Parts: sequence; structure tokens; C-alpha cells
Amino acid sequence: MTGVTVVDHPLVARHLSVLRDKATPSGDFRRRLSDISMLLLFEALHDLRVREDAIETPLETTGGMRLSDEIVIIAILRAGLGMTDGALRLIPEARVGHLGLYRDEESLQPVGYYESVPRHATDAEVIVVDPMLATGGSAVSALDRLKEDGVGRLRFVCLVAAPEGIAAVRERHPEVPIVCAAVDRELDERGYIRPGLGDAGDRIFGTD
Ligand code: URA
Repeated sequence: MTGVTVVDHPLVARHLSVLRDKATPSGDFRRRLSDISMLLLFEALHDLRVREDAIETPLETTGGMRLSDEIVIIAILRAGLGMTDGALRLIPEARVGHLGLYRDEESLQPVGYYESVPRHATDAEVIVVDPMLATGGSAVSALDRLKEDGVGRLRFVCLVAAPEGIAAVRERHPEVPIVCAAVDRELDERGYIRPGLGDAGDRIFGTD
């Protein structure tokens, strides 16, 4: 699939299996989600731009590197919060923004209710995170919103994607790379990904 990377790694597969298991309690779910998020972002950011920088070791000067661009993580509320801790462990200097979008249960369309995007995100590498790419409505709205603000370099990282969600993002934002741990079979009539892992927000926060 053009523009879609499914991270193929035994540790990613193992974390995902535990996350899918309905018997996994929310504390374990949060930790696993944080760990797998690190692995997914590690892959998603493999081509970050860097510049050379001289480093003084205790013995001599050597060549080092710095990231050329600032990194901004945008978490789609609320389930995206479950990925920010892992993202920040990987990139401690990243700034974090939030977009509050909930899915209307009848229309399945995203409704915006909160927005906080760090200043200067326009010049940054911006990674939108949300564990579940289901209909694609929230992802497309978030990417639309960030582009309206002038953000140019965007990536989307999720845990599980439905073919329908991928198609929606690819159609509207074909240049935005998508990185995930799995592409599942389908969406059901309630907009849940099958086989999926249920409602990611409920499982993170124990609100089920
Ligand atoms: N959001 C979720 O949390 N789970 C799904 O399966 C679909 C959307």
C-alpha cells in the first residue's frame, strides 16, 4: 500500500497481541501502548533530517549530529493521549499539542471540541497520533486543521488501521505517510475495527 508502513517486528506483534486481548487490564494496556508507540514512532521517524555537529568526548572532538527540525506530537483526544508518553520517551524534546475530536455515534463524523497546537508547528515535523484509524474522519479532520494552520510536514502514526480509514486519509492527504502496527479486516456497523481491540480510549482509561 503506497504511503502506508505496517511495522513488521516481533516485539510490535507481541505488544499488539496483548493489547488486543480483552483480558489485558487497563494498567497493562497503558504500559504496552506506550511501549509499542515508541517502536512505531521510531520507525515513523527513520528519515528525520539531521545536521552535523561537533561533539567533545572526554578524549577528543568527534562528529555528532542534531535533529534539523523541531518535533511536534499532536494527540487526537482522548485515545491519542495513550501514545504521547511513549512518543516523549523517544523524543524528550518534542512539544505536544492536542486536538479534541469525538466521533458522533450516529453520523460517525468527527466533532471538534478542543484545540491546543504549539506555536511554530508550521516549521516542525508534526506527527499526529491516534491508536485507531477507523473511518478516518478524525484523522482527516486533524490533518485538515493542521494544514489550515500552515503545517507542512505531517505524518500519521496509529496502532491499528482499517482499510476504510487508510483510504480516507490517502484520498484527502495522499502525501501524509501512515505508520501502523496492523491493518485489520474491516469496520463493523458501529464503526469499530474488526478484529481490533475495542474502544481504545475506554481501555486506556478504564472507562468501560
Ligand atoms: N475507535 C476505537 O477506539 N476503536 C475502534 O475499533 C474504532 C474506533
